[in-house]
Amino acid sequence: MSIPSEAAAVHRDAIVFDAHTDSLQRVLVSGDDLGQRTGGDPLVERGDFPRFREGGVNAQVFAVWVDTIFLPDHGVRRAFQQIDAFHRMLEANPDAVAFARGRDDVEAAVAGGKLAALLSIEGGDAIGGDLGILRIFHRLGASSMTLCHSRSTDWVDSSTDEPRWNGLSGFGVEVLREMNRLGMAIDVSHTSDAAVRQAIEVSRAPVIASHSNCRALCDHPRNLSDELLAAIAECGGVVGINFYSGFLDQAYRDLFLETYGDVFAGFNQPPTVPREELEDLARERLYQIGKDDLPRPPFETLLDQIDHAVEHAGIDHVGLGGDLDLPHMSTPAGLDDVTAYPLITAGLVDRGHSREDVVKILGENFLRVLADVQSAAEVS
Ligand SMILES: [Zn+2]
Repeated sequence: MSIPSEAAAVHRDAIVFDAHTDSLQRVLVSGDDLGQRTGGDPLVERGDFPRFREGGVNAQVFAVWVDTIFLPDHGVRRAFQQIDAFHRMLEANPDAVAFARGRDDVEAAVAGGKLAALLSIEGGDAIGGDLGILRIFHRLGASSMTLCHSRSTDWVDSSTDEPRWNGLSGFGVEVLREMNRLGMAIDVSHTSDAAVRQAIEVSRAPVIASHSNCRALCDHPRNLSDELLAAIAECGGVVGINFYSGFLDQAYRDLFLETYGDVFAGFNQPPTVPREELEDLARERLYQIGKDDLPRPPFETLLDQIDHAVEHAGIDHVGLGGDLDLPHMSTPAGLDDVTAYPLITAGLVDRGHSREDVVKILGENFLRVLADVQSAAEVS
């Protein structure tokens, strides 16, 4: 791929920060070593440290996602398994990657020529209803937590499940207050509209949506309305644009539903296999769930999402949360793996965004919010 020299310079000089990947799933279930360049299909194995470097990606948030089949009994254990995989990945690749919690760590990693790796808990089910486990996750490096995934939990409603609390329960409010105290970013991707509004109301610090898109362009319940985009901006937060075709493009989403039905609804069903078979089932789901034979939407759909978010949230409140490393998940044409990030920069420059604005979208906005969240903490 050839990138015009102006855009290449912007990309090289910016800190490129991606707020969400599921790579830890592959590391855990398939034993993939991200230190090695994978020779396989880039649409299956979409990122490793050599390719992050090639794509000019400087910081990546690694999600600890707990598949619903592990809930409720094995959620905490599953989260710890992934946190262990994260730290082992860091230990095995000291020359390529460095742990980061906040802005200073990211800048130090970049200065050392390494990828900054941040840790996030995806799905508040992982704390097992216990603030002590939340605190331990923070001590183990988690700088943010996505409040829920596809199902409503014992304390917060999901956008893709029946509401149980009209947003947050009383304990949910306590969780958010504790996250504020610790300096963990409250991530409202996946939560119901009511829960997003309440989280913004409760939180003393800016709230993020690490990997969410604009509902006006693709009517998926986990995408954000224009009103919520503005509300997240109002609290000083940031929205990371997701690269999955099913959240980007209405035509793709319609065709997917028509062809395959709502396969993701099955995610919320309880497991049908005994405990010892859960790992195999998790692997099967990881490699099968997003598979399709549909045409990929044009690359412009990603730029359209970014522009719509900028229009409604403002230039200081939009970033990238690619959600890229789920095997087979459809992405726009031309965007196969993490080496494609310079195309986003080129597209934004081509659409007339200034250098300063592109730098904000590529990473500056997320870095600012991380610093704001951590400076509002009451513990050091
Ligand atoms: Zn997610």
